[in-house]
Amino acid sequence: MKIIDTHAHYDDAWFDDNRYELLDSILAQNVLAIINMSVDIPTCDFSIELSKRYDNVFAAVGIHPENIVGTPDSYIDTLRKYGEQPKVVAIGEIGLDYHYENYDAQKQKEIFEQQIMLANELSLPVVIHSRDATEDTLNILRRTTPEKGVVHCFSGSPETALELLGLGLYISFTGVLTFKNAKKAVRSCEAIPIDRIMLETDCPYMAPSPFRGSRCDSSMTIKTAEKLAEIKGLSVDETVSICNENAIRFFNLGVNN
Ligand SMILES: [Zn+2]
Repeated sequence: MKIIDTHAHYDDAWFDDNRYELLDSILAQNVLAIINMSVDIPTCDFSIELSKRYDNVFAAVGIHPENIVGTPDSYIDTLRKYGEQPKVVAIGEIGLDYHYENYDAQKQKEIFEQQIMLANELSLPVVIHSRDATEDTLNILRRTTPEKGVVHCFSGSPETALELLGLGLYISFTGVLTFKNAKKAVRSCEAIPIDRIMLETDCPYMAPSPFRGSRCDSSMTIKTAEKLAEIKGLSVDETVSICNENAIRFFNLGVNN
């Protein structure tokens, strides 16, 4: 069964040597569809171009918290224009990241909130990135109430997961779920009903076990599905089928089989 990767970064330089050959090959084999994320205005352009090149590649457009420096004031109008393109299915990835020193929390929060408001205006889902910023992320989500949202690459506690579910959000897991030290992510996964879970790679990063550290691509989504199947006591086919349906429903994907 072919699988959907709900979160990828095919603009990354790690793909420069064989980007299109790789995509041709995995989309012909075991990958049903891909949503390519954006982190700034140039990657929005890339994601939209990629979605035009492949039937089952879709685009998310947005400004990542680590890319806010130099964002022009007019960015929200640019995103609004992009959001009206037929294969743009989400605003993402957006959020808060307090991991590296000298981050501007105030500016990050402002840009995060503005993009959630835009998503609500356009009735698009948001794809949320949150690192070392759980409380501020939750506060903004409580206040802005995105119509539809998914917290990606989740590795937080079951308590945080339940709080997000209470806000109506979905949660997606990368290859991190397969890592030996991912006990907290596994416990959270146990607490989340499968109809609120989506699968992703965040490729080229976060390659699942046994590929950890190497370049990841969407065909490796199956490794995370296998781990999820084990956690939920389901077959891999059932797990893939449910997660594919969740992604199609959540992002309103017009997937061609
Ligand atoms: Zn990402």
